[in-house]
Amino acid sequence: SAKAEGRNGFRFFSAEMNRALQERRQVERDLRRALAEGQLRLHYQPQVDLVTQQVVGLEALLRWEHPQRGQVMPDAFIGVAEEIGLLNRIGEWVLLEACATAIRWPGPRMAVNISANHFQSADFLRAVRHALDSTGLNPRRLEIEITEGVLLTDTERTLATLGALREMGVSVAMDDFGTGYSSLGYLHKFRFDKIKIDRSFVTSLGDDPQSVAIIRAVIAITQALGLRCNAEGVESIAQAALLRAEGCTEAQGFLYGRAMPEQDLAVLLGVSRDAAA
Ligand code: C2E
Ligand code: MG
Ligand code: MG
Ligand code: MG
Repeated sequence: SAKAEGRNGFRFFSAEMNRALQERRQVERDLRRALAEGQLRLHYQPQVDLVTQQVVGLEALLRWEHPQRGQVMPDAFIGVAEEIGLLNRIGEWVLLEACATAIRWPGPRMAVNISANHFQSADFLRAVRHALDSTGLNPRRLEIEITEGVLLTDTERTLATLGALREMGVSVAMDDFGTGYSSLGYLHKFRFDKIKIDRSFVTSLGDDPQSVAIIRAVIAITQALGLRCNAEGVESIAQAALLRAEGCTEAQGFLYGRAMPEQDLAVLLGVSRDAAA
């Protein structure tokens, strides 16, 4: 009967939920040890100047080398880390590690993703200063990537933090632009150095004329405001050519390189690490 099926359905559902809960608890337990046991790694993806084809930036992207599961991607654990109150500490580690790497590879800017929560926290600016001071990195080589979530709460604090970063010489990029709560008001109220056009617009360039129109408009805004513009998720030469023709300044994507461990940067940057240092 329908009733029995319902009960079966419920039993199945609750077994599934139980499994998901166990699994989730295991991830939490493992994650608490990951930082202390050195299982977190940074990989670096090149950001390329569309005119000169030079690598002008590296974006630090988090990887978790889980002892049993192998490499875990950030989308699978950053949410959990945030919920159990671990993401700010992870962010501090990322800042230090990325700055230390940047020192070994002179030239390109180092871009670091910072969660909305961490950016808004009282400790964030101290962590940035600590990472710069303890590594000796020129602040002009550090770029902080934030998403629109940062702009939704506590405007005063956000303005103060952005101002302090600017004073230090650290630049700020608006990541994933065009998704979420994008508002032109934000571009007016908050000053960024760079806008990163979300990958979804670049991906649909080939078969969706509206994406071309949107990208053209965003590029025009960045030009009018004197900002750099980075297009994310560039996978084909055709996409790169179109973006370049429209006046986009930078691109990032599998066409130029995936995020890679530090030891692979020598080939990317065309130098040996010793020669570079
Ligand atoms: P994001 O900051 O927008 O980073 C870009 C993501 O797109 C990266 O995924 C990158 O590997 C991927 N990507 C780059 N080019 C291409 C392409 O051509 N095609 C495709 N299909 N994908 C491309 P990843 O490394 O999995 O990171 C996902 C997100 O996790 C990041 O998005 C960022 O929001 C977050 N994340 C990564 N590292 C950190 C971190 O250290 N701290 C924080 N708070 N978040 C991080
Ligand atoms: Mg990013
Ligand atoms: Mg992005
Ligand atoms: Mg993203």
